[in-house]
Amino acid sequence: MAKYQLITTTPEETMALGVRLAAFLSAGDIVCLFGDLGSGKTTLIKGLAQGLGVNPDEVNSPTYVLMQMYEGARLPLFHFDLYRLEEAHHIHGIGYEEFFYGQGISVVEWAERLGDLMPEGYLSIELRHQDHQRALTLKAVGDRYERVVKSLKLS
Ligand code: ADP
Ligand code: MG
Repeated sequence: MAKYQLITTTPEETMALGVRLAAFLSAGDIVCLFGDLGSGKTTLIKGLAQGLGVNPDEVNSPTYVLMQMYEGARLPLFHFDLYRLEEAHHIHGIGYEEFFYGQGISVVEWAERLGDLMPEGYLSIELRHQDHQRALTLKAVGDRYERVVKSLKLS
């Protein structure tokens, strides 16, 4: 499984990756984000939102809801933040399957909390603090996402 790594030095650069990525995603696609608080997950999603024609200022980490939906010009964006998810099965309560395999793009912060409910295929993006920089590692899980990553022409 190929891995692609890049370093961003500003939030704008992280957003720009999200903007580019949005162009290669289609309905039913899932992006799983891994990384500590402040690593840039929400910033990347702001870029995804912008790429889909949503005002990035609308995107924040939802405090009390597990999923926030934004109506993009081309596709809706389903933004999951599982920071407060105590047990993976609680996600059934919001009917996540309808979103995951539905008519929009799903992006999941704290995706490791999905546990057994982790989808079979997804684009994995791991973000790590490195001083003032962020190291991002992209990995395709499943053929469909291999194509998405290649389209980004990162290496
Ligand atoms: P998370 O959702 O992972 O908790 P956020 O995106 O909410 O992280 O916050 C990242 C913070 O780090 C923001 O305040 C952002 O301005 C800052 N930051 C600094 N450099 C970067 C970078 N290269 N990429 C993303 N965010 C950065
Ligand atoms: Mg966040």
